[in-house]
This record gives sequence, structure tokens and C-alpha cells, in this order.
Amino acid sequence: MKPETLAIHSGNLYKTDTGDVTPPINLSTTFLRNEEGGYSGGHMYSRVSNPNRSALEAVLSELEGGLEACAFSSGNTAGMSLFQALKPGSHIIAPDDMYWGFKKQLQSIFADTLEIDFIDLTQPALAEQHIKENTVMIWVETPSNPLLKVTDLKAISAIAKKHGLVLACDSTFASPCLQNPISWGADIVMHSSTKYIGGHSDVLGGVLITAAKTELWEKIRNVQQIGGAVPSPFDCFLLLRSIKTLPYRMRGHSTNGMALARHLQQHPKVEAVYYPGLPEHPQHDVAREQMTDFGGMLSILVKGGATEARKVVNTVKIFAQATSLGGVESLIEHRASVEGPDTKTPQNLIRISVGLEHIDDLIADFDQALG
Ligand SMILES: *Cc1c(COP(=O)(O)O)cnc(C)c1O
Repeated sequence: MKPETLAIHSGNLYKTDTGDVTPPINLSTTFLRNEEGGYSGGHMYSRVSNPNRSALEAVLSELEGGLEACAFSSGNTAGMSLFQALKPGSHIIAPDDMYWGFKKQLQSIFADTLEIDFIDLTQPALAEQHIKENTVMIWVETPSNPLLKVTDLKAISAIAKKHGLVLACDSTFASPCLQNPISWGADIVMHSSTKYIGGHSDVLGGVLITAAKTELWEKIRNVQQIGGAVPSPFDCFLLLRSIKTLPYRMRGHSTNGMALARHLQQHPKVEAVYYPGLPEHPQHDVAREQMTDFGGMLSILVKGGATEARKVVNTVKIFAQATSLGGVESLIEHRASVEGPDTKTPQNLIRISVGLEHIDDLIADFDQALG
């Protein structure tokens, strides 16, 4: 089945006596045992599994073309569960433009247990040069946050395979509808489902999806079930509800994203636009090959510095000045001031999450803000 059909039907997994067309929210934390001591309903205790979470994991795994998924209570904990499943002393290669929260995790929580090199993965050969005896994984993020760098998944996967390394991909900016890293050779895909998958800025979540049942995947499942950072049945219900419209939302985000990127590119007050859909983007050809469309995330450099950039985020009216991304409403953010004094993000950079409002209104709002 195609994504539009899967998104609507594959989460409706289980049958109830009342004939519900959409799955009910199953709040029970525990499930009855039968006379033989087994669990006829397939669930034992809701930290381990429950109907809403199983349905969510099934649809996400199918949309990514994976084998299984583990859903978590946030994107950060999804990534952290993979880092926790690695053997202490392991070396991992990560992107220089890695999502800020993961960089912080690796540099603080895992500072004593994992070795990390942050590398520009838009040049896959650089990754290969940094492989060491204890390297176990290459983590990529494409498109990346906030510079929208695109990593060639096929090229990086060839390197990972050659050296027997796990390839994991943070695919949050693409969502499962614009890019399927497993089809390009990734072993594990990660999403913050708080973003496009949820799509309405009202639920936190994260997910890991695997291409195969491996020893590492068993460890991740263990971190999920015994660690217990799982989403609630209501969170899973909200995400399942959101996923039904995900393919159509991604079309709208991509159309609006492209139109705003093209408009801003020609604006005299804009120094640069980072959007993988623009032919001028340095990895546009790679993006065109591995993505079906380019999504609603873009960053711009405003002419001037932090003052000029902050003036724009304070003057727009429709774009809400807030962190996060992927919701139906447009958001805008001055990244450097969120990331703090040690950030490498340019001071005049504004990150934009283009929502599903009418593009004419979004363009008019930006024009009045840029002045
Ligand atoms: C938001 C985000 C995360 C973290 O997800 P949370 O749900 O906020 O914990 C990870 N990676 C990327 C690219 C993100 O945008």
C-alpha cells in the first residue's frame, strides 16, 4: 500500500467488541492473564506494551519501510536510548551540525562513556578518515538542524557497511513521508514525533525504527521496556490521529516551504537562504535523489547581525516566535539566542518552520517584518 493508505489504515490494528472505526484509548496499565497463565490479548503491563503504542509503532515502522519501531516519550529520549544501548567506550561519528539537544547529551550525559567526533558529513570521505578501532556507529541528521545540510545516505551507508558500523539517521526534518533512510541503507531511523508526525504542537514523542532484528535492537527494546520512558496511551492516540493526515500535510509544508524560500532568496534584506529544494543549495542534487520533496524547514541569514535578525522575529505577526517545528502553524526562531553563548550558529540566522497557512499571507507577513 502507498503511504496515504498506510497512514490511515495501518494504525487501526485491533478489533473491539463495539466495532469502533477508530481505535479507542486504552488506559489500562495491566492486562488479564488466562488460565494457562498467558496473556490472550497480547499485552501484560503497559510499560512493556499496550494497544495504542503497538498501533503507533506498527504504522511508523510501515511508513519507514522498517521491521519494528520503539516509541518513546520524547525525541531526546529516543536518541538517548540508542546511545545507552551502545557499549561503554564506543566511538561514534556524528554530524557537526547535529541537533543541539543530542550534541548536549553526548557532551554531558555520555561524556565519560562514549567517544564522539563531530564531522561535516556532507563530505562522506571525511567520516571514513575518522573511523577508529572502537568506532561502532555513524549518526547522520538529514536535512540538518538548523543549517539544512543534506547528507548523502547512499554514500555514507556504503562506508558504514564496509567497516561494519551501524548507520543511524535522525530524519525528523523529512518525516517518514519525504525520505526513507532504510531504503538507502540505514539500520536505524530516528524521529522526534513532536514535530511533523504530531504536527499540531500538542504532543511530545520520539521513535526509533529498525531495518532488522539485531543484538543492538534487542538492547534498545530493553532500554524502552525496562527503562520505561514510554509515551502514554493518550500521546499514542494523538500521534495516530495526526499520522492519518501526515502525507497531505507534508505536501502543503513542502509547497509553502519552496515558495517562501524562493521569495526570500530574492529579498534585498536577506543574505542567504538555506533550503534543500533550491537549485543553489550545495547538496540539492543529493536531496533530489533521496527525498521525494523538501519539506517546510528553512533558515535564512538576515543582512546585518543579531539585532537585525531579532527585529524580524519580533515584528512578524503570523509566525509565532517559539522553538520547535513541524506544526500546522508557522514558527520562527532566532536560533543562536536559544542555543546559548557556545553556539556555532550564525548570529544573524533565523530558523523558520513554514506551516499550512496561505502562502500569500506568510509572504506578506515576512515582507512587512523585513521592512
Ligand atoms: C526536536 C528535535 C529532536 C528532539 O526531539 P524532542 O521531541 O524535542 O525531544 C531531535 N532531533 C531533531 C532534528 C529535532 O528537531
